[in-house]
Amino acid sequence: MCSIIGYLGLNQAAPIIVKGLKRMEYRGYDSVGVATFSDNQIVVRKGVGKVIEVNKAAKLDELSGNVGIGHTRWATHGMVTDTNAHPHPSSTGEVAIVHNGIITNHEELKQDLQQKGYAFKSQTDSEVIANLLQYHYDKTRDIKQSVVSTVADLRGDYAFVAVFEDGTLAAARMHEPLIIGIGKEGYFISSDVLGFVENTDEVIYLDNREFVIISKAGLHLFDFDANPVQHQITKVSKEFADVYKGEYAHFTLKEINEQPVTIMNAGMNTQLELDLATDFIRHARTLYITGSGTSYNAALVAKFLFSKYAKIKIEPIISSEAHFSPDIFEQQSILIALSQSGESADVLEAVNIAKGSNAKIISIVNIMTSSLSHLSSIAIGLGCGPEIGVAATKSFTAQLAILYKIVDKICGGCLGLDLARVSEAAKKSLADDSKIKEIAKKLKDVSDIYVLGRGIHYPIALESSLKLKELTYIHAEGLPGGELKHGPLALMDNNTYVIMINPDDSTYSDTLTSAREIKARGAKVIGISDKPSDVYDYWIEISKIDESMYPLVEIIPIQLLAYYAAVEKETDPDYPRNLAKSVTVK
Ligand code: GLU
Repeated sequence: MCSIIGYLGLNQAAPIIVKGLKRMEYRGYDSVGVATFSDNQIVVRKGVGKVIEVNKAAKLDELSGNVGIGHTRWATHGMVTDTNAHPHPSSTGEVAIVHNGIITNHEELKQDLQQKGYAFKSQTDSEVIANLLQYHYDKTRDIKQSVVSTVADLRGDYAFVAVFEDGTLAAARMHEPLIIGIGKEGYFISSDVLGFVENTDEVIYLDNREFVIISKAGLHLFDFDANPVQHQITKVSKEFADVYKGEYAHFTLKEINEQPVTIMNAGMNTQLELDLATDFIRHARTLYITGSGTSYNAALVAKFLFSKYAKIKIEPIISSEAHFSPDIFEQQSILIALSQSGESADVLEAVNIAKGSNAKIISIVNIMTSSLSHLSSIAIGLGCGPEIGVAATKSFTAQLAILYKIVDKICGGCLGLDLARVSEAAKKSLADDSKIKEIAKKLKDVSDIYVLGRGIHYPIALESSLKLKELTYIHAEGLPGGELKHGPLALMDNNTYVIMINPDDSTYSDTLTSAREIKARGAKVIGISDKPSDVYDYWIEISKIDESMYPLVEIIPIQLLAYYAAVEKETDPDYPRNLAKSVTVK
């Protein structure tokens, strides 16, 4: 969610910070700001809008100084306004901060600080950090001590970077990501490696309850009790630097098109972990799987695969619901946690609850350096490269490919898993998208779309409707085919579009019957199938493949359809409104 960045070095800070914020745009945000330190003062510029717009209006990158901080905000407390944008200066202006996360006790702290004479300008929870640092700094004139006292007072999840009136940076981490970059010409501190990877690939990952002080004298790390801590410098993969759209109009389109490769590569770099995890799962007393959004839909596919092919029961849990079922995890079970970013607060919470019941955690995650990987006994990497589009596409099929691999191993190869064949089928769907573009034009003015599928295609119907919602803002609903006549049939009329996921497998004839029932009520039917039918108003052909493997193939034309419908509607497919890529707040 949103991003923070700080820089201290030999170069002008503001252009570096603005560039870093632009690279992290995919995380989703509503406002932008930068503060730099120069000539013994901190200057803040900020506003609502995209980095490029605010930069144009407020000339963020023209701020002078070799030290600075920057932020893209995804509002949680206080409206989306210029005043609420970060950075927030303290009331005397001697400190300014940028913050990710939520300070849960901000109201009490604010009242207390107001009584002590500190003034507030914004409605955010974040501003208390600035004034609290200022308050402790006023008492001690010692930056380290003021950070220690501030973090002792704060409750909630946060990462913040502060710049002080002498040009020192201080940054602290509590359940929100924070990474230090060590370059030849300066230090970086950011919520995301992408914030500075152009400048250096040498990084230090701060742990929770740790902070760093960076000044001209160097970099010093401490825990929240003020004890010095040591961390190794690690090298991040250079692949992060290759995040460009290339010939594609949007990251989302690029990522959809990468799937023939990413499906093949899923889990390849963590083969040992995958084997080990399979062994644990095979012998699990009780097995759970959790995720949010798209990852939860992958969990529902897993439920089907595990019970039908591996003959193992696995219970899917929506991560954000785990909190409300505290006894859900039996002692000493195994929880498979799915997350692209590995920073989703809901998934991390579910994992921590499971750990409380002594569960072993196996994660399937794209960012191997994430909090989720660190919390897991075994982390299997999706290996699909950075996913920038907010709506998950290639990470979904990579999650599925890994789950297929695990099930195929457990059932002694009963799936006859042939990812090369899946990859070929995916390529075919992508090769000619002219028909999909035509259908997308029709969807432009539609207000409701239903997606139907039976059996293993039902979770894909859910995922399809999620993609349509995220990318096109059209109301979409995924339904199990058989439920149609138990209610939703009442909604079908001339203005309704229904996508039938109907490959030629054991669900085929039942789903075709549903299509006829829908058609009889005047709705338009889009068939996703390897077999044509007169019932379809529009037929999107997919390749014939083994029954169990269809989910990996059938989702791809629907991702494309959602993408092209978004283009038709002139929404931004990469950054849908109100959404963020990695939802690190609850
Ligand atoms: N809670 C803070 C706000 O609403 C920070 C949100 C964020 O992480 O961007 O300003």
